[in-house]
Amino acid sequence: MKQVIPGLWEIDEIGQDVHCYLWEWEQGYTLIDTGFAKDARSIIDALIRNKMALHAVRRIILTHADPDHSGGLAQLKRATQAEVVCHAVEKEYLEYPLRRQISSWYMRLPLLAASMLPDYHLRAVVPDLLVVDGQELPEGFVVVHTPGHSPGHISLLHRGKRVLIAGDALSNRNGKLHVNKSKFTSDLPNAQRSIWKLAKRYGDDFETVVFGHGPPLLSNGGKRVKGLASEMFSSEV
Ligand SMILES: [Zn+2]
Repeated sequence: MKQVIPGLWEIDEIGQDVHCYLWEWEQGYTLIDTGFAKDARSIIDALIRNKMALHAVRRIILTHADPDHSGGLAQLKRATQAEVVCHAVEKEYLEYPLRRQISSWYMRLPLLAASMLPDYHLRAVVPDLLVVDGQELPEGFVVVHTPGHSPGHISLLHRGKRVLIAGDALSNRNGKLHVNKSKFTSDLPNAQRSIWKLAKRYGDDFETVVFGHGPPLLSNGGKRVKGLASEMFSSEV
């Protein structure tokens, strides 16, 4: 486990394809995203190895319901008994994983086939708590609804610690921030609008940004997201 800032760890035991995070607060720990189904065991082992009791994981917040973020959810919920939290719109995809529509139709069949494999299988989970844009969470986060990559995608902002947990609202690849244009993004114009929202409404409130994909930004995060927003929209004029 790698500390990003005090109180926030990346669970790097699952490798670098996708990131999930552990947040420490007064009542215990909150896990943010759960990797693929195959990653659940590594996450549980990492917690045990770091002497973090499984029952101390009080909540699991999903940025969205894609297989690389929610695949380990069913096993981790069972192991920790944590409360599962997601956006109200994303609930449907946790409960019925095959309803998630991705932009690229030709990927739908391979995705369906992959979901049959145990390593990538998505088991339905009923969330315990639904959240909406602007909601304040007991961990100190404000929920920022950032639809586009998926309809109920959320990012989490902690103003006190000046950190944004971006999920797949944007990614950091090759030293540059990008809107997530992957085949799995269901609505690209909305994804771009969400980056604009992060920049304009919250750009002064965070310094550190962590991503579902790509290394963290430890400084100037707000400025960099503002830069990406103006770059994206100025090219359209
Ligand atoms: Zn992802």
